[in-house]
Amino acid sequence: EAGRVYNFNPGPATLPLEVLKEAQAEFLNFNNSGMSILEISHRAPQYAAVHEKAKQDIKELMGLGDDYEVLFCQGGASQQFAMIPLNFATKEHPGSYVLSGSFAEKAYKEAEHLGVGEIVASSKETGYHHVPQQSELKIDRNAAYVHVCYNNTIYGTEYHYIPETNGVPLFADMSSDMLSRPIDFHKFDFIYAGVQKNLGPAGVVLVVAKKSLLENSPESLPTMFRYSTFYKKDSLYNTPPAFCIYMVGKVAAWIKSQGGLEEMARRNERKAKVVYDAIDSSNGFYRGHADKDSRSFMNVTFRLPSEELEKKFIAEALTHQLSGVKGHRSVGGMRASIYNAMPYEGAVALADFMEKFRKENA
Ligand code: PMP
Repeated sequence: EAGRVYNFNPGPATLPLEVLKEAQAEFLNFNNSGMSILEISHRAPQYAAVHEKAKQDIKELMGLGDDYEVLFCQGGASQQFAMIPLNFATKEHPGSYVLSGSFAEKAYKEAEHLGVGEIVASSKETGYHHVPQQSELKIDRNAAYVHVCYNNTIYGTEYHYIPETNGVPLFADMSSDMLSRPIDFHKFDFIYAGVQKNLGPAGVVLVVAKKSLLENSPESLPTMFRYSTFYKKDSLYNTPPAFCIYMVGKVAAWIKSQGGLEEMARRNERKAKVVYDAIDSSNGFYRGHADKDSRSFMNVTFRLPSEELEKKFIAEALTHQLSGVKGHRSVGGMRASIYNAMPYEGAVALADFMEKFRKENA
């Protein structure tokens, strides 16, 4: 599409062009309501259909049945960091956290702030180059849950196994790899994701959890902090972010139409291979941050020989229509986010540019 760049931003991030065009085409008169989705009542039947279909498609993609429910919350994934310990952890049954990066730490800090958090493994000491492996997890059988951050957006590491927790409920922040590949989601009790990476615009958080966890929340909590409020009222207790949910629904339908999570995984692995190959074949010019067995399919992080060259790389990338490759300030270097909607051609364009830049600057 003329004027559009390959957008490697970590989130908000690139969305499927087909989805953007569809939204554009129906923007002024949504579903024959005579108004746009931004203007319609969240109680209108035209909206109810969108809400329901989005939930159904997400559950279908994840292969989950009636024992799971999809909620639409607000406050970002960051608010979930607090809501989770508020709803589930106590001093007697604390929340157990695996520290694998910045967001895992932030999640832990909210539980710690409430006096109900503990750490069961951490790769912080070694610079978050890998996600803690099963053998590193010291599971506390008394814990309310084990919390993991499944893809570490900033460090570019991702789990390639499902932690075994000896019966303790498994909770996961999947903000940056939600619906990017098939996973045995049944092994998770509670999954949440800010949608602004793989699934839509910023403004809604997807929660997919076992119903049994959502039925009863502590009465002591304010209404909007209880998961039971969202569950019992179908995420319509208050006005939901209707536009965001509509977009998430469109992205979920797009994933289905493309072949589901198997096809997303096939594409994402193919893209990641192209970019990681450019790192691995660079004779050390590019140095990946993640250990190979923890490499993320979503966020590829790497450094160049000097900060000066990194600045030059970012500036020159832009002249090749490659935008958003600057890494997070805490890690430095580059980060290319190659979510579901990044086309293969985008990954190839980046790898070609990396090769050219290396030859000119090595
Ligand atoms: N978790 C992960 C893995 C993230 O990447 C982010 C955002 N970059 C967050 C949590 C925080 O999400 P939000 O901005 O929606 O609060």
